[in-house]
Amino acid sequence: MPKEDPVSPNQTEAATPARPHRQAGRPNGQWKVDGTAPLNGNEVWKQEDGGLSVRERVENIYSKQGFDSIEGTDLHGRMRWWGLYTQRKPGIDGGKTATLEPHELEDKYFMLRVRIDGGQLTTTQLRVIGEISHEFGRDSADLTDRQNIQLHWIRIEDVPEIWTRLEAVGLQTTEACGDVPRVILGSPVAGIAADELIDPSGLITDITARYIGDESLANLPRKFKTAITGSPSQDVVHEINDISYVAVDHPELGIGFDLWVGGGLSTAPRLAERLGVFISPDRVAEVWHGVASLFRDYGYRRLRNKARLKFLLADWGPEKFRKVLEDEFLESPLPDGPAAPPPTRPGDHVGVHKQTDGRYYIGVTPFVGRVSGPTLLSLAALLEANGSTRLRTTPHQKLVLLDIPEENVESLIVALDEIGLAARPSLFRRSTIACTGIEYCKLAIVETKKSATDAVLELEKRLASIDVPQPISLHVNGCPNSCARIQTADIGLKGQLLPDGNGGQVPGFQVHLGGGLASHEREEAGLGRTVRGLKVTADDIADYVERIVLRFLADRGETET
Ligand code: SF4
Repeated sequence: MPKEDPVSPNQTEAATPARPHRQAGRPNGQWKVDGTAPLNGNEVWKQEDGGLSVRERVENIYSKQGFDSIEGTDLHGRMRWWGLYTQRKPGIDGGKTATLEPHELEDKYFMLRVRIDGGQLTTTQLRVIGEISHEFGRDSADLTDRQNIQLHWIRIEDVPEIWTRLEAVGLQTTEACGDVPRVILGSPVAGIAADELIDPSGLITDITARYIGDESLANLPRKFKTAITGSPSQDVVHEINDISYVAVDHPELGIGFDLWVGGGLSTAPRLAERLGVFISPDRVAEVWHGVASLFRDYGYRRLRNKARLKFLLADWGPEKFRKVLEDEFLESPLPDGPAAPPPTRPGDHVGVHKQTDGRYYIGVTPFVGRVSGPTLLSLAALLEANGSTRLRTTPHQKLVLLDIPEENVESLIVALDEIGLAARPSLFRRSTIACTGIEYCKLAIVETKKSATDAVLELEKRLASIDVPQPISLHVNGCPNSCARIQTADIGLKGQLLPDGNGGQVPGFQVHLGGGLASHEREEAGLGRTVRGLKVTADDIADYVERIVLRFLADRGETET
């Protein structure tokens, strides 16, 4: 899942600590403090002609005249507002990532991200994505860790037809990337789980319908990520989103949400903080719009690598953030609210679980999110043959299949295994995720999907007879960005080149250890630590993980995670 180039083309200044107000320092590009004069190249083109405008040119010019007709700021900027990134040219060594110009790194094909708000899909929609993958994307399809499905090898000539097909079944790529409100993460078991406090599906639909594609929120300082869950499993990685709603039972006000803001990983990882407020369901959209508008008006725009909401929250603190939100962006103040209790069960939903209506949902995992067009088509057929037309993507690169009659569960699990989707996966197949990596991503330094899959297969053999009493997560990234959330894994691997001992370099990883989000086994989230000097080559991942697991099991205290 490639990120935008982290630094704007015109940015030459060294990063300095951001300031809440201009004071004696230079302006940070906060519209309400400094005015709207753009302070870098990205802000110039975003103001001159917003990202959403490029669709008309794709449909009428670029798709007819081909890749070479695409204007530079459209190609490397505005296309993202419609889910399109140029993909990496095959065969370019990771050592050249930092030295080549974007046009030297890219192919004349695109990655296309289909946004799936709340992760909710029908088999009709799944079939359309599978057909698009097969006809236009060389069968590529990856489940991302933000509930999207990402296709590759897309030609600009085919994009209008792809949009037509997606939109005919209620899917879109609008604002799937870019400085905009991205896909809204939603509990994959919304509306079906017996322990659910509140079904957030209608709230997600409401926000999406009202604000996605809305010009007034289409030029934010940076991406803006949202997560909403009504599940006590807290299954939407709420600690690392810009805004998150976690269901809570208020002793006087009933069921509503605890609000978190300002989370984000990548180069300056920071966990979100609670504002200590209670959001009743009827105020969810208003508060979402308020926080997004606050970010638009007060977010830092001078340096792109200091522009996420987390930097503003770090400077303001939650009290000031809440006060500005209430005073300037909401109709009335928010009541104080309690924190949600720790998660009650695993939030990846893998395995077989009973629904409120007596049918079952089955959480399944491919290897590190990789599926394919044919897999998606086979899955649609399998589900329909078993009486289901609904499924969900998850923030853990998995799928949850809904509405399965009890008598079909076991035979369906066997059939799913045959298409590469495991309902009873091994420890590491379940808990390993990997980003896009060098196969397609222009920012990548090393390969990820195959290295991670090979390691999982090897660990399945080596650790088959060992009883590991709890999940151990392994997250693999192809560069210093954090698309695969390395700082929130027990074992996080950050791609870099390592000396091979003979004067050359080999693909490898810097190791982070001990991170994790809140879970049924870990009360609070914490970021993993870089273990200084601890690096592992791509070929040695399985050796390293085996060693660390065996050491952990030998030395751990009874309740130690
Ligand atoms: Fe994200 Fe991975 Fe690409 Fe780095 S290599 S930008 S972590 S997808």
